[in-house]
Amino acid sequence: MKFRSCTYILLLLIVLSGCSEKNEGNYVEGLLYLDGEAVRIEIVDGYIAQIKPLRSGTSLPEVYVAPGLIDIQVNGYMGVDFSDQELTRELMLEATQALWKEGVTTYLPTLITRDYERLEKSFSLLAGSLDDDLMLMSIPGFHLEGPYLSPVKGYRGAHPEEYIRLPDWEEFSALQEAAQGKIRLITVAPEMEGAIPFIGLCNEKGIVVSLGHHNGSADIIDQAVEAGASLSTHLGNGCANEINRHHNPLWPQLANDGLSISIIADGSHLTKEEVRTFYKVKGAERTILVSDALSFAGLPLGEYEKDGHRYLLTEEVVKYPEENVLAGAVQPVSKCVSNIMEFTNCDLKDAIRMASENPARLIGLDHLGEISSGKRADLILFTMEDGSMVIQQTMVAGKVVYSNE
Ligand SMILES: [Zn+2]
Repeated sequence: MKFRSCTYILLLLIVLSGCSEKNEGNYVEGLLYLDGEAVRIEIVDGYIAQIKPLRSGTSLPEVYVAPGLIDIQVNGYMGVDFSDQELTRELMLEATQALWKEGVTTYLPTLITRDYERLEKSFSLLAGSLDDDLMLMSIPGFHLEGPYLSPVKGYRGAHPEEYIRLPDWEEFSALQEAAQGKIRLITVAPEMEGAIPFIGLCNEKGIVVSLGHHNGSADIIDQAVEAGASLSTHLGNGCANEINRHHNPLWPQLANDGLSISIIADGSHLTKEEVRTFYKVKGAERTILVSDALSFAGLPLGEYEKDGHRYLLTEEVVKYPEENVLAGAVQPVSKCVSNIMEFTNCDLKDAIRMASENPARLIGLDHLGEISSGKRADLILFTMEDGSMVIQQTMVAGKVVYSNE
């Protein structure tokens, strides 16, 4: 019996090794984002098998190579709104392809505060649209930003006040079911009644909790971190314009080492000085770049109408002329990578880390975010032109999903 099972395992191994031989390996060459060294990255079955230095003297590549970018806050892209009640698989693919073009290989479609029915429908449409292998690989889950946020003007930002409510585990569980268990990140306001035990429950279930659109005191913020919160959502935004200079939510979030931060470094949502200061406090280790892109992102500049309101899409942001305010962000996270290098003088290695390795670690995507053997070959090839990242090729699991040719 023992002999027979050994023989069986041996046969199985022979069959499996035969399979992997049949699956052709491929490779990419580029200047490694970590140190600029010219390397060949060998890919087998969609994963990085080996990284070899290229000999000088041979024709060296002129593009950089880095792990694909990971954006944990994207509301929509290229005219596709992820909360659209008519969302289809085709629309999701269009948005995903547009993001691949910007070097984003992984992202979390993000839904904001709405009534229960609309959120439930949105999550089931989102989860139901992911029937394509590459899309499934690019979308490992969703981000729910709300509805358990501060209802106070300024802190609530663009979240509609009428749908903001107290944390409700039963409601959240029903939404998680509609999302087929794919809500991986939730943004909550810790000062809301019941928020601390709610954060504890999320933590138990492996859902990452971020603090955002809130006016939590230092004490409440510390309690939230103890309960398992690990991130601050777009720090410096979702905050009232006028705050107490001593007692406000910014200092305790900056001071608490248990919190990483996400920031919108598009040059409009935060000043350069804010980005520089946040970066000095949290470092490349605890900073995550997000686009927080609205569905207008990627479209031609100009005027648009949505839900009966007029919006102006400029190169930097979406404006809402009726209220004379910013409606939201439109720069892809690749733009935030080059911006943060300009604003803070950090190097390419750290800038990429903030848009790939850090979000991968936060969400628990251990197979992503780095170039090393055993990681999935989600890779980008790019040039730096006038300080901006220009994506030349994007790969998901070793497959070319975008090429600038
Ligand atoms: Zn927000």
